[in-house]
Amino acid sequence: MADYVCRVGSFSAQGHRSNNEDRFVVDNDQHLYMVADGMGGQDCGEQASGLAAEIIPKAVQTHFAEHHDAPSAMQHAFAEANKAIVSAGRKQPAGHRRMGTTAVVALQQANQLFVAGLGDSRAYLIRGDKVEQLTVDHSVAQALVTQGILKQEEAKNSPWSHVLHKFLGCAEMMEGADVRPYALEPGDRLVMASDGLTNHASDADLRKAIKEHPDVQDCAEYLVKFALDHGSRDNVTCVVVAFERE
Ligand code: CA
Repeated sequence: MADYVCRVGSFSAQGHRSNNEDRFVVDNDQHLYMVADGMGGQDCGEQASGLAAEIIPKAVQTHFAEHHDAPSAMQHAFAEANKAIVSAGRKQPAGHRRMGTTAVVALQQANQLFVAGLGDSRAYLIRGDKVEQLTVDHSVAQALVTQGILKQEEAKNSPWSHVLHKFLGCAEMMEGADVRPYALEPGDRLVMASDGLTNHASDADLRKAIKEHPDVQDCAEYLVKFALDHGSRDNVTCVVVAFERE
């Protein structure tokens, strides 16, 4: 089966914040893409997302070399990043120990896309007019929706929408990251973004952006600007990947 040609656009903006705690990875050799959104006081957030961005692609490569399949390599990579961030957090002075980061990772192999996420950074697959969110937000608000306590439309404005129950740097995390496979079709677009973007762009906004910006770099830059123009006060990061047949 002919492999896909991946065209990738990426952009990150500090926005109104005093530093940018978001990180992204475009690893064209492994066809691995990632967005991480760090949290914690001082420079803890940057350290956490930086560690995730450094460790995960390398660990995936190492585990592939040891003949792991994609889900296993990704799970191990998440576990290793988690351990490193927990241990870096323990070295921080008391009061700065809640150091963590979200991470969403997508890896393309042949006609499959493997996606894993912890936290509330998201991946979407856009196919024609269909926009599918591939990740589940690990916010307390979203968990309350799953349990039927909150309605989906209430979750967005809930005080629990920014409280994460799963992320990298979580010492109590037992079950790790779920890795889900998706079958790709030519023309598919992957959009990965931090909540600085997803809080301000609807499915319809994403569909429109993809339609009107066939160049993936233009599209990533447009979406980041769109979020900032629509009131995002957060760091805003976006990776857009187009999958085409050779
Ligand atoms: Ca954020």
